[in-house]
Amino acid sequence: MGYNAYITETEIEGGTEGPLAGTAVAVKDNISTEGVRTTCGSAMLSDYVPPYDATVVERLTDAGAAISGKTNMDEFGMGTTTETSAFGPVENPAAEGHVPGGSSGGSAAAVAAGDVDYALGTDTGGSVRCPAAFCGVVGIKPTYGLVSRYGLIAYANSLEQVGPIAPSVADAAELLEVIAGPDERDATTRDGREATGDDDFYDFTSAADADVEGMEIGVPTELVEGADEGVVETFWAALDDLEAKGASYHEVDLPSVEHAVEAYYVIAMSEASSNLARFDGVRYGPDGDYEGNWNEEFAAVREEGFGEEVKRRVLLGTYALSAGYHDKYYKKAQDARAWVKQDFDEALSDADVLASPTMPVPPMEMGESLDDPLTMYLADANTTPVNLANLPAISVPAGETDDGLPVGLQLVGPAFGEHAIIRAGSALA
Ligand code: GLN
Repeated sequence: MGYNAYITETEIEGGTEGPLAGTAVAVKDNISTEGVRTTCGSAMLSDYVPPYDATVVERLTDAGAAISGKTNMDEFGMGTTTETSAFGPVENPAAEGHVPGGSSGGSAAAVAAGDVDYALGTDTGGSVRCPAAFCGVVGIKPTYGLVSRYGLIAYANSLEQVGPIAPSVADAAELLEVIAGPDERDATTRDGREATGDDDFYDFTSAADADVEGMEIGVPTELVEGADEGVVETFWAALDDLEAKGASYHEVDLPSVEHAVEAYYVIAMSEASSNLARFDGVRYGPDGDYEGNWNEEFAAVREEGFGEEVKRRVLLGTYALSAGYHDKYYKKAQDARAWVKQDFDEALSDADVLASPTMPVPPMEMGESLDDPLTMYLADANTTPVNLANLPAISVPAGETDDGLPVGLQLVGPAFGEHAIIRAGSALA
C-alpha cells in the first residue's frame, strides 16, 4: 500500500479459530516477530531478525489474526510525526501532505487507509493516541501493566504500553481484550480482575455500549487553554454531543501538568540512554571490523546506525543521569511525576473520566517540524502526563477543523478504568 506505512510487508498466518479469525493486524516495528525483521525504524536494526515472538503477537495469532506486516515508526519511538524513521516518512491518509502523527504513524495510517482491520502501536508519551487523533481513528493507551511488554524493544520501560489502533472504539476494545492480561515473562503486568475486584474486567467489548447517561466528565482547563482555536472548537462540540447523550461536565485543575512535558522528556531520555546502550555492534547492530579498540568501534557503529533525534536523546539522557546532575534533573523529574499522579487522582475522585483534546494542534504539514525539536516536544503536552501517571486513555475522533484536518478527543480514566474510557468513547465513535 501507499503512504509508506510499512517497513516490511509480510503475511504471518493466524490460527483458524478465535475471536479474530479472518482479520488482519498491522504491528508496529518495535514489537518482535519471530523470523520477520524488526527494525524500530532504525538503520541500526535494519537486518535484525528476532528469534521469538512478543507475547502480544502470540496472543494475536492464537486469537486467529493474521499479521499483515511491520509498520513504519519514528526511530525507536522517538518522535511525534513519524518523520525520524530511517525508512522515510509516512503520509497521513486522512490528510494528505500532512504527517500521520507519531511515533506509531505507520500503524494508524494502515488503519486509516483501510488496509487492515486493526493495528498495534506503542505509547510511551502519546505514540498511540497522537497518530490515532491525526489520522481520524481510535487508539487506546492501556493502564501501565495491563498489557505485556515482553518482546517490545524498550524505549522507556516505566512509561510505555502496547495499545490497539482501530476504526471504531468497539474494534479497539476487542483487540485490547485479546492482548490484555498478566504474563509471567513481564513482571510489571498485573491482573485487572484483582486490581478492580471485577470478574468481568476483561470484557472490554461489552463496555463499548455508548451509554453515558449520568457519567461525570472532568475537563482539565490546562489541557484546553493552550490548544489551537480550531482544535478547541471541535473539542467543545464533541463534549456537547456527550452532554446531549446524558453526560455532565465540570472544569478541573491539574496545576502540575505545566511541568509534565519537561519531566517526561528527562525521564524518557534517561531510560532511553540506558536501553540503547545495547546497540553497540557487538550485542546488537551491524558487525563492524572490530580491531581491538572497542571504544572507537562502539562510537563508529552508533555514529552510523543512529539518526539525529536518537543521538540527541542518548546524549541528553546520559547527561541527566550523570553524577553531579542526577539530583538536578532526574530526581526533580521523578518528583514532578509523583505530583502529576497525585493531581490526576484528585481530579478523578469526582469525575469518571477526564476529557481534553488529544493533541493541541492539528496534523502538521510534512517536513515542517523536523528542524524544531522543542516545538515537537511541546505537541506532547496533553498525552505525556497520562504516561507519567500510568493511567489508561483513549483517543477518539472528535470531528475536523474548518480546513478538514482530523481532531482527536482524549478521555483519561483511573488506573484499570478501561471500562469507563471505552464506554464514554463509544458514544462518539
Ligand atoms: N513523542 C513522544 C516522544 O517522542 C512520545 C513517543 C512515544 O510515545 N513513543 O518521546
